[in-house]
Amino acid sequence: MSDVNDDLMVFADETGTDDGSAPLPWQILIIDDDPDVHATTKLALKGLSVDGCELSFFDAYSAEEGLKLLQQNSEFSVALVDVVMERDDSGLRLVQTIRDRLHNHRIRLILRTGQPGYAPESETIQWYDINDYRTKSELTRVRLFTSIAIAIRSYSQLKQLEANRNGLEQVVEATSTISQASDLKRLSAEILTQMRALLNADTPCIMCAALEPQQDEPFILTAEGRFSEYEGRPLNAVDEPMVRQRLVSVLHEQRHRLDDGICIYLPGPNQQALAAWVDSNKRLTDSDQRLLEVFASNVAIAFENLRLYEAMEQLAYQDSLVQLPNRNGFIAAIERQIASTTPSSFAVALVDLDNFSYMNSVLDDAFGDAILHAVAQRLRLQLGSEVVVARVGGDVFGVMGDPEALTPEQISRLFSAPLSLHQNEPLRIAATSGLRVVPDSEKAPSAAAIIKDAGVALKQAKHFYRGQTVRFATELADAARDRMQLLSRLRTAFTKDRLQLHYQPFIRLTDEATVGAESLLRWKTEDGNYIPPDQFIPLAEQSGMMVALGDWVINTALRWRAGLVGHVGDAFRVAVNVSLMQMREDDFAEKLVQALYTHQLKGHQVEIELTESVAVDDVTRVKEKLDYLRRYNIGIAMDDFGTGYSSLNILSRLPIDRLKIDRSFVSGHAADGLRLNMAHTMMELAENFQMQTIAEGIETPEQRDALRQKGCLEGQGYLFSKPLGQQQFYDWLLQSKPDT
Ligand code: C2E
Ligand code: CA
Ligand code: CA
Repeated sequence: MSDVNDDLMVFADETGTDDGSAPLPWQILIIDDDPDVHATTKLALKGLSVDGCELSFFDAYSAEEGLKLLQQNSEFSVALVDVVMERDDSGLRLVQTIRDRLHNHRIRLILRTGQPGYAPESETIQWYDINDYRTKSELTRVRLFTSIAIAIRSYSQLKQLEANRNGLEQVVEATSTISQASDLKRLSAEILTQMRALLNADTPCIMCAALEPQQDEPFILTAEGRFSEYEGRPLNAVDEPMVRQRLVSVLHEQRHRLDDGICIYLPGPNQQALAAWVDSNKRLTDSDQRLLEVFASNVAIAFENLRLYEAMEQLAYQDSLVQLPNRNGFIAAIERQIASTTPSSFAVALVDLDNFSYMNSVLDDAFGDAILHAVAQRLRLQLGSEVVVARVGGDVFGVMGDPEALTPEQISRLFSAPLSLHQNEPLRIAATSGLRVVPDSEKAPSAAAIIKDAGVALKQAKHFYRGQTVRFATELADAARDRMQLLSRLRTAFTKDRLQLHYQPFIRLTDEATVGAESLLRWKTEDGNYIPPDQFIPLAEQSGMMVALGDWVINTALRWRAGLVGHVGDAFRVAVNVSLMQMREDDFAEKLVQALYTHQLKGHQVEIELTESVAVDDVTRVKEKLDYLRRYNIGIAMDDFGTGYSSLNILSRLPIDRLKIDRSFVSGHAADGLRLNMAHTMMELAENFQMQTIAEGIETPEQRDALRQKGCLEGQGYLFSKPLGQQQFYDWLLQSKPDT
């Protein structure tokens, strides 16, 4: 043996541990059928130590006996095995058994033989991980010791590796359980459990203190055993000074203290930290300490994750602006109500602020936010703590509670008093709501379905009962479903060119000349029936399809007007109805002027008809657009005049050329003087504002005559003609009086 290293020879009395306690000796097993070999081996190694630990010897005199000892004790570091015992190859077979059957891969094996001839194959030595193979005569004292020392060292390394591997696995496992803890309390309890497992400590006396940056004093988060009474109290309350000081100093110095009990520092985000105390006298090995280190840094990650988790939960369920549950939070609250053990009826309402988007667009964002804050506060205060209040969309709030507390009347009353906004004038706002009551007799649908039902009712309310609350009923849902089907049919009809325009003549009442026509949409279905525009236009409006449809109407109507050149006078005008969605388009006016050029028409040959609701949507912007159209001489008529409420105000602000007196003031009994009188008032109004008038819905000669007498200039109605298809209109022109 050339690599003999005499440094390895150290005698036991030269070493010792720092604390004087004797470390465990290395256990060496001698397996040899020759008792002399046992004696000489022990004599040769007597008094020697390896890395500060003595050697202790165990004897087996046959392979069988050796196997028994090995089965009982897995802590042998080295076995010196004789090759030839009961049989020529007993030693080799034993080696095989140790590795393959006992699965002991840690023990180091030194094979010795008296007869040089019985050398095992070199593969065997490799395969069974044998440290050394020597003839007994080769092993002098020094060589024997060197061989054993090397074997012990590699045994010790293997053992360390294994421990680390197990420990790391444990840490990894511990970390993953800890990462799943969703609140600080659970996290700290989990840390304690895992620390005990890591340290193999069965002492129950563990506790954990947390330091919040805002709080000057640490407090006990979780405590076990004799400390459990301190849970939730300030650290100062702990009346064991040593433990208390240790925790304080660990938090203060931000490092572990592993002498006299184990106290670990666990840093967290934002200067937060935990300190954990394990009431244990266990001496920690280097690898224990390294494991704790890894554990602590993993806890820091879990800690960070916990904050993230909280933040995420906050984001996921809470509206950050008004500090109310958001849509998810609202759904969760409804689900809790559905799952509640005492089922009772409850109501869910969606409260949509009227004109909020308009207010938000003309005033600054801060003002919009202030309104939302004030509404949130109003709902919370007025409805009380029994009712869940959430913000489920931009300007939509969700409320859930006892149906008694959420009747339509009660909901209407929410906004009867104006909102007081900080530093601003009190603001009066209105809201439209959809209400879904779930009676306890009804098997509760899912939260999503309940919200959807309330949404259906809300939509209904917004279209037909603005400012009020509509209660969901199954008929509503059926109607909604029908509308969806109709909408998809409308899309197909539009793309397949099955929509048409019909034209209804405008008649000058003084001479019955045809002075223009209104274009009216017609949808002829495949079975030849007509679906009235009153039914499908609101659908197209809601679905956003109206803009494309409106463009098509404008182009078709203008093309039609261009085609009439030569058949009608220069002043003949085509009127197109313009809806809210079209008017909201930024480039509406430009597109219309563009179409004027495309079809080479003059401005006065085209007129748009607006209803009051279109005009008041956003008066400032509507005015800009109308002023622009005015510059091109395009006519502007106020449709259905008299049915709106803010007529006078609108008339004074917008550049309107013509009032179309709604047919509710025209049709019906001519004897109904009151209605005719109102029509008369409207005509006077028009005169004051220097506007023209046209009366729609004239069905009888009496109506026509009465209107003419009151000074109405033009008329439109079944008395003269129904809306006509293109060809019919040509026929109409042929027999009608020309405009001279
Ligand atoms: P509107 O603009 O008030 O159109 C006049 C409606 O009164 C037309 O119904 C017309 O057929 C009907 N009418 C005409 N004369 C008489 C009469 O003597 N008696 C009675 N009872 N009714 C008469 P229509 O064609 O069903 O259109 C209904 C509504 O649909 C229109 O009301 C208009 O608001 C909308 N609409 C039609 N076409 C379009 C369009 O191209 N674009 C837009 N945005 N809306 C349209
Ligand atoms: Ca019209
Ligand atoms: Ca009308």
